[in-house]
Amino acid sequence: MLAVVLLILLSGCAREEEQSAEFFVFGTIVEVKLWGVSEPDASQAFSQLQQMFQSMHRDWHAWEPGRLSDINSAFAQGQSATADYSIIEMVKRSQEIEEKSGGRFNPAIGGLIRLWGFHTSDYPIEGPAPSQAQISAILDLRPSSRDILIDGMEMRSNNPAVQLDFGGIAKGYAVDLSIQLLQDIGINNAIVNAGGDLRAIGSHGERPWRVAIRQPGGGSIGNIEVRTDEAIFTSGNYERFRQDSAQRYAHILDPLSGWPAKDIASVTVISGEGLLADAAATALVVAGLDDWPAVAKALNLYKIAVVDESGTVYLTSLMEQRIEFSKGIKRILVDTLDERQ
Ligand code: ADP
Ligand code: MG
Repeated sequence: MLAVVLLILLSGCAREEEQSAEFFVFGTIVEVKLWGVSEPDASQAFSQLQQMFQSMHRDWHAWEPGRLSDINSAFAQGQSATADYSIIEMVKRSQEIEEKSGGRFNPAIGGLIRLWGFHTSDYPIEGPAPSQAQISAILDLRPSSRDILIDGMEMRSNNPAVQLDFGGIAKGYAVDLSIQLLQDIGINNAIVNAGGDLRAIGSHGERPWRVAIRQPGGGSIGNIEVRTDEAIFTSGNYERFRQDSAQRYAHILDPLSGWPAKDIASVTVISGEGLLADAAATALVVAGLDDWPAVAKALNLYKIAVVDESGTVYLTSLMEQRIEFSKGIKRILVDTLDERQ
């Protein structure tokens, strides 16, 4: 990649009160829109965001050399390593989410993700799956984020198989930190949208921020008006995968079996927080059609839509109330949740 982060300023676009910029980070375009902010204030906000995205890329990357790869090498050697606030925060939150999701979200399975060839930006990957013996060799060591011990800014793992990969949570946390940065400099109407994964604050002038929910295979399930301080995240098996002559293997792995998640094409979660919405969407893809309601409940999340391989949408009633559906979407209400407002 030539430039880590590419910033395109689009100020002075159609609506004069809207300022927007695009950044290339985490292999996706992150679009930031601000409402009712002067041009100089917007440029300043955008350059601060760019610096922040650059340090995230350097510190959080799962396979390029940087802070996280140093930490992973230290873990493998049983040594301690210095982290920073953001990594410590992601580890602590991951430990909690791993526990509540019954191990379905587990960012310590970097070794398995590497084994499957998912440490790449070039999709789709071609070729057969790894052998069961290779998978078991890692799985039997039971890497877990809960093997990590934190002491101030120092971390070490009492399991050398722990290899951190924040692919399932980084985008969510990055969106949260972006919103935090904007609020800290007095911006209260904004949306940060990383390829359909987003969080918004305030509104777009007289109307709410409005977004489409991605549909596996293209198009959208429908539209949602994003309420203030809401994050909406979708995880799916349809964009990034390995393909051999027989089948497709999703880049979301079931940490309990070491094999890719099946039967769910995508999950969309609404939560007050990007980090939780992102991690939960990944966990619910792993949970599958039978178990997602119980896992959602354990995570205290009640606005969820799940799309199966045939395109049918299963959703909670709190989610159904929020979506203006596209034509021809087959949907089934799932009322097994103890729903709350
Ligand atoms: P998307 O690319 O659709 O946003 P996710 O948010 O679900 O997908 O993130 C997928 C990434 O998360 C994978 O590329 C990998 O880095 C990591 N990952 C895969 N399986 C798991 C899992 N069970 N728990 C935590 N992280 C995972
Ligand atoms: Mg995720």
